[in-house]
Parts: sequence; C-alpha cells; structure tokens
Amino acid sequence: ATPTALMVGVGRGAQLGILIKGQDALEASRSIDTVVFDKTGTITTGRMTVSGVHPMPGADRAEVLRLAGAVEHASEHAIATAVVTAATEEAGSLPEVEGFSALPGLGARGEVEGRRVLVGSPRLLADAGVEVPAEATEVIETHRSRGDTVVLLAADGALLAAFTLHDEVRPSAPAAVAELHRLGLRTVLLTGDHESTARTVAAEVGIDEVIAGVLPAEKAERVRSLREQGRQVAMAGDGINDAPALATADLGLAVAHGTDIAIKAADVILVREDLRVVPDAVRLAHRTLRTIR
Ligand code: ADP
Ligand code: MG
Repeated sequence: ATPTALMVGVGRGAQLGILIKGQDALEASRSIDTVVFDKTGTITTGRMTVSGVHPMPGADRAEVLRLAGAVEHASEHAIATAVVTAATEEAGSLPEVEGFSALPGLGARGEVEGRRVLVGSPRLLADAGVEVPAEATEVIETHRSRGDTVVLLAADGALLAAFTLHDEVRPSAPAAVAELHRLGLRTVLLTGDHESTARTVAAEVGIDEVIAGVLPAEKAERVRSLREQGRQVAMAGDGINDAPALATADLGLAVAHGTDIAIKAADVILVREDLRVVPDAVRLAHRTLRTIR
C-alpha cells in the first residue's frame, strides 16, 4: 500500500469518528476475521443500576445496603458505583471502611464497624468458604438468565444478601454485530462476568461465541490463544481491565469514553457512541486497501 493511499484512509476514518494511530493499524484491519468485544462498557453502556436487593432471612435491607455501600465506596468498578448509589438513596450516610482491598475481577473486602465484609462474585464468596443456601442459588440463577450480574455480600463469613445489577445493552450493538457478520467476521464476547449472564447478553445482540469468567489478568491470554488458533483478532474494549488485551490483539479498538490506559493500548480509537463504528472501521480498511491494489 502506498503511504498516500493510507493517509487518505486515515483522513476518511477521522471523518467517520475512527482515529487511526498508526498506518499499520489500517493494514492490520484488512485481514481481521474475529472481533472480540468486552462486555461491560462496550457491548453494554456500563452504567449499572441495582435492580434488586435480596437480604437473606433475618438480614435487614437497609443494613445490607449500608455494609455493601461502605466497602464499595472505596472501589472503582461500575458495580461499586451502582451499589453506592442504591445504598445512599436507601440507607443515607455510609460508615467508614478500614483495611480496604480491591480484588480485581472478583470484588472487594474491608472492615466495617468491626465486621469483616466481603462483596463480590458468587465464585469469590464460595472460594472464601461462605455457604450459599439454595434460596440464594435460585435468585442467582434467575437473574443471570435475564442477563443481570449477581453480587453477594458476606459479613464475618456469613452470607447476608444478594444484589442484582442491570446494565443496558447499547442500542447500536445488535446492528453492529449483524454488520460484522455480513462482512464475514466472527464475534466473541469476553467478560469476567458469569457464563449464563454473558450468554444472555450475547444472545440479545447476536454475538457468536462467549468467553466468560475470565479474570482481568487472563483477558490478554485469551486473546493470544485465539491468535494461536490462527485467527486475526480485533479487540474492542473500554476499561483499564482491557488494556493488555487491546495491546495483545492484532488490532486494538478503544471505544471513546474509555480510560486513558485503554486508549494508549489501542491502535484505533472509536469516537462515536454508536458501536456501528466498529464495522465502519473494518470496511474502511477493506476499501482503502482495495483502491491501492
Ligand atoms: P467485566 O469483564 O464485565 O468488566 P470484571 O472482570 O471487572 O467484569 O468483574 C467480574 C466480576 O467480578 C463481576 O461480574 C462481579 O461479579 C465481580 N466484581 C468485580 N468487581 C466488583 C466489585 N467492586 N464489587 C462487587 N463485585 C465485583
Ligand atoms: Mg469494560
């Protein structure tokens, strides 16, 4: 490809909201056959809301919100923001947390009013030896099948509540995925969330494959293994979690509201809210490089 033709492509991209950081990125886009999407904040809006509070028998709704809110106040995850909002709305001011630690891709822990509080995925609590009774399992399964995320709360090793969180699929996601399929590409949803939540979201937008329950540190590894299977992989993501995966892909696509870290790791920055910018980027590469040959 001639440098001039590539520059024209880069210029055309800018008009479409596709900022190409290096001309190599345009060449890489041409042979992409798989697009991996991060779930939270990429396929979904990432603006989570607490859709349900389920205290265990004997536990008080305002109390479980207070405890969870206190720990999540120190976290940065979209889940944490949603829990803090619900907790302050219903329980007022939140107590202090001591000895806070974030557990990336799992949850968070800290001491609140002398109690050891753990909030996070059912897997995290199970690994910590917290017993999850049948009624909680039922809540978990039902909400996952609706595409919601489930988070559990324990204090001093006893389960106190389940919280369900809803995150809207971006309205443009189904059309973007359909367009990628028309271009002959395969689509994958990559997430730290549970498999059944991920499958529901994937079905809602028409994504082909699901890779779920992946810790943030393992996301890049999963992208690498797709490449080792001979696939040419573009990865679209937004978060701090995604930066190594974006950098590992043949082509890293950062969505505009993404963090600075993700943007640095990406080859192409997509500055339109509309996810159809992803197939636009692929088509742009095809078209630009076709005119050259
Ligand atoms: P995603 O891939 O969707 O961005 P993450 O890898 O960040 O998800 O998180 C995976 C799972 O870990 C979440 O679905 C949730 O169950 C749990 N989790 C992560 N951070 C928190 C938190 N601050 N509070 C509660 N749960 C959390
Ligand atoms: Mg994300």
